[in-house]
Amino acid sequence: MYPRKKQITKPGRLELLRKRFTYENVIRFLSVREKRNMLIFWTLIAFLLILLTNLFFELRFVQKSYKSTICSNCGLRQEVYTDVLSGFDCKRCGSELGYAMKCSVCQLEFAYIAVPVPDSLSDKDKLKFKIDSMRCPNCDSVNTSRMPAKKNLPLEKIDK
Ligand SMILES: [Zn+2]
Ligand SMILES: [Zn+2]
Repeated sequence: MYPRKKQITKPGRLELLRKRFTYENVIRFLSVREKRNMLIFWTLIAFLLILLTNLFFELRFVQKSYKSTICSNCGLRQEVYTDVLSGFDCKRCGSELGYAMKCSVCQLEFAYIAVPVPDSLSDKDKLKFKIDSMRCPNCDSVNTSRMPAKKNLPLEKIDK
């Protein structure tokens, strides 16, 4: 095997950059119209990219998929193919469906119906409210998580 080439570092490069990046130089740079326009142009491009990335992720995450649900009344587990859960009722008893949650402490499987967070709360309290609403109804633990959908439940699958 050949010995690995030693990385050639360029000392002073950063130093040089720092010296050039002074307040006066930035002002001088911005006073040139073409350069200023160029900067505005690239800033706009960057904004556009950020917007597009956001849009892409939003579209990706609200896409329809199988969601594991539990009936809030009779506890029947059902897989629902949807983007948002609201508007679905239990096939057996017609009650509201909640996301299927599992407590990792006592293993209880329960229905979680998303409660709208009051706008009057502060950001910290909003987070607390959200965490509290997902607590295990049996042991009060916050160690709960959404259950993944089982793809092989054809009898309980609802497609709307
Ligand atoms: Zn039910
Ligand atoms: Zn529990």
